[in-house]
Amino acid sequence: MGNAYRRIRRLRGEVDGTMPENKNSEFTAFFTFSQSSLQDYFDCPRRFQLRYIEHLAWPAIETEPVLETERRQQEGQLFHRMVQQHLVGLPVEKLTPLANSPDLSRWWENYLGYQFELDGCTKNTELVLTAPAGSHRLLAKYDLVAVLPGRKAIIFDWKTYHRRPKDEWMAARMQTRVYRALLVKAGAHLNGGTPIQPGQVEMVYWYADFPSEPTRFPYNPAQFERDWDALTGIINEIANLRNFPLTEAEKKCAYCPFRSYCNRGGKAGALDGSDIEMETAAAEFNLNFEQIAEIEF
Ligand code: SF4
Repeated sequence: MGNAYRRIRRLRGEVDGTMPENKNSEFTAFFTFSQSSLQDYFDCPRRFQLRYIEHLAWPAIETEPVLETERRQQEGQLFHRMVQQHLVGLPVEKLTPLANSPDLSRWWENYLGYQFELDGCTKNTELVLTAPAGSHRLLAKYDLVAVLPGRKAIIFDWKTYHRRPKDEWMAARMQTRVYRALLVKAGAHLNGGTPIQPGQVEMVYWYADFPSEPTRFPYNPAQFERDWDALTGIINEIANLRNFPLTEAEKKCAYCPFRSYCNRGGKAGALDGSDIEMETAAAEFNLNFEQIAEIEF
C-alpha cells in the first residue's frame, strides 16, 4: 500500500480505526443508541465504527450457506409479525395459513400451545421506549410488554434460534440490560403515570423451538443502578472516542461482514451449529437492525 493511499485511508479511519475529530462530532450530534449498536461496540469497537459512523453495510456475507441464513431470517421476521398480529386481536384462522413452512408451522403451534401469563395485563406490542442516557438518547423496541398496573411489568421477547443459548450468555447480552433498564426509566405511562419499579420488572426470552424452556430474568434496584450507570458510561465513552480498535477475539470476525476492511479473512462462518453463540449473534443483528431501522429518527 502506497504512503498517499495509506494517508487517505487513515483520514477515513480505515487503517487503524482512528477517527478525524470532526467525523465523530457529526456522528455524536444525531445518533440514537440501541441495544444492537451497543452490542456491536461491546463485541468490537471497530465494527461499531464501520456500521454506525461509516455506514458501511454488508460488504461480506456473515454466515454460510447464504440462502439458508436468509430463509431463517425471513421466517423469523414473519413469525414476529404473526405473533404481533395475534396479540392485537387478529383471529388465529386468519394467521395460521401464513405458517406455510415446517419451521413457521412448528413455531406457530408452539406459540398457540403455550400459556403466557397475560391475564388482566395490558398488552403493549411493538412498543418503542426512549430516554436520555448520558450525552445521547437510548431507544428500544419491545416485542411485548405486559403490564398489570402497580404490580408487574413483563417484557417478552420471541427468539427463533435453532439452538437454545445458555442463560449466562443471554444474561450478558446488551438487550437484557437495555430493555429492563429502559422500561424502568421510561415506562411510567404504561403504569398509570407512576414509574415502574425495578422489582416489578421481569424479562422473558421465549424460544419458539423450545417453548417449555424460556429464560426468565427478574430485576432489582441494585441491578437497575448498575445497568444504568454502565449504559450511560458506555454511551459517553463512545461519544468521546477517537480510536475504535479491532477486537482481539478474532473468532468473532468469521461471522462479521466487515472482514475485508480489517484483513480478518475471506471465509464466512458456517451455520452448522459448531459455534452457536457466534451464529446467534450474527442472526440477531439482522433481525434487530431491521426492526430498529423502521423507527429510527
Ligand atoms: S472483522 Fe473483526 S475486527 Fe473487523 S469489524 Fe468485524 S469483528 Fe471487528
